[in-house]
Amino acid sequence: MKISGLLSKPSKTAPHEADTANAKLLLQAGFVRQEMAGVYSWLPLGLRVLNNVQRIIREELDAVGAQEILMPALEPKENWEISGRWNAMDVLFKVPSQTGREYALGPTHEEVVTPLIGSFVHSYKDLPVAVYQIQTKFRDELRAKSGVLRGREFGMKDLYSFHATQEDLERYYEIVKQTYLRIFKRCGIDAKIVEASGGSFTKKFSHEFHAITPAGEDDIIACADCPFAQNAEIATVKSGAKCPSCGGKLQNVKGVEIGNIFDLGTKFTEVFKVAFTDEQGVRQTPLMACFGIGTTRLVGAIVETHHDERGIIWPEEVAPFYIHLVSLQSKDQAMQERIAEVTSGLYRDMQANRLQVFWDDRTDSSAGEKLADADLIGMPVRMLVSAKTLEQDGVEMKMRGEQDSHIVRLEDVMEELSKD
Ligand code: ATP
Ligand code: MG
Repeated sequence: MKISGLLSKPSKTAPHEADTANAKLLLQAGFVRQEMAGVYSWLPLGLRVLNNVQRIIREELDAVGAQEILMPALEPKENWEISGRWNAMDVLFKVPSQTGREYALGPTHEEVVTPLIGSFVHSYKDLPVAVYQIQTKFRDELRAKSGVLRGREFGMKDLYSFHATQEDLERYYEIVKQTYLRIFKRCGIDAKIVEASGGSFTKKFSHEFHAITPAGEDDIIACADCPFAQNAEIATVKSGAKCPSCGGKLQNVKGVEIGNIFDLGTKFTEVFKVAFTDEQGVRQTPLMACFGIGTTRLVGAIVETHHDERGIIWPEEVAPFYIHLVSLQSKDQAMQERIAEVTSGLYRDMQANRLQVFWDDRTDSSAGEKLADADLIGMPVRMLVSAKTLEQDGVEMKMRGEQDSHIVRLEDVMEELSKD
């Protein structure tokens, strides 16, 4: 892709309304556009990141046997009355119809998935089963803030699993827990698993996954030496005290909740009358677990944990493009033609080799602007072609996350890029 044709070019000035790094950088770099408080459009570069996050999630969940489906965002009120959450969930958007009926705009999907599964599961042979979807969710948040971290409309991956026994549920719960750590790792985040409350989902504890960053809303009491961590909302321990798990020192850290997993027991399967016949021919209620990842929030959390004062530093697997190719202008006509020729040749070769390349081909921007934009947008590799680099018969290569750059000879560029 060439920047000259890009819909949303980076802006020179930071948006004044931005309260967090992700809001400032995603807006300024042209990844998202705010339509109203808590509601965003995803622009070409931002959507590429979101799609990468979703691809990683799909790969990892498909690998543990979950099947992708897509449920409606418009949910039947009756189901919410059956679960008892129509009046119990304050963030529920209720949509009136011209016929006088009402619907729920899905904030989560237990009310749809449970009867759906009930229509297919009849015998122990149909279990276990796990389905997931990646979908837009709606929540009437009182305060939508912190860029894409807290929206009224946001992306979520929600996975639901159904089991014949508690043992089997716990087995799968553990598998998904590890899968989540892998997903976040591939997105560049070393997520912290945190014991938390079950919210409106279950009376039991749940496990939250947090990106540790000062931008986080949640207070977490975490051990400095071992994985022990509790959300301060439910913590049985205090910061400064000894870790009950290893004796290390507990400290207070801030986290962004990027995922949350719950053992729901029979809370939903019972009220929706889901049943299966076990091996002895006895009717039983299946056990259920649910597993959420906030996909759009995750993109925001990646920015919060991967930026510097100049811009975003995308982890490789989620970056919108791998290479940011920059061609600088020269006042010398012959040199200008040489720069154009070399850069378009590189662009062609990179594309032919399936390398994801983004070319700043603008002829009306200064070198300073182009370099500032490359840092703001944050692709992993910057390749610069200028009169100076061509005097050395090469291009300047610099990793976004590193200080040093070096010259790569023109004939070695493709080999250098295919190294890793
Ligand atoms: P929070 O405590 O931050 O309001 P939650 O605990 O209510 O979130 P869950 O019901 O656990 O959220 O939803 C699953 C995941 O969806 C969360 O872990 C989070 O990553 C994401 N999520 C929830 N609410 C929002 C929101 N308003 N905007 C963006 N992502 C959200
Ligand atoms: Mg939660």
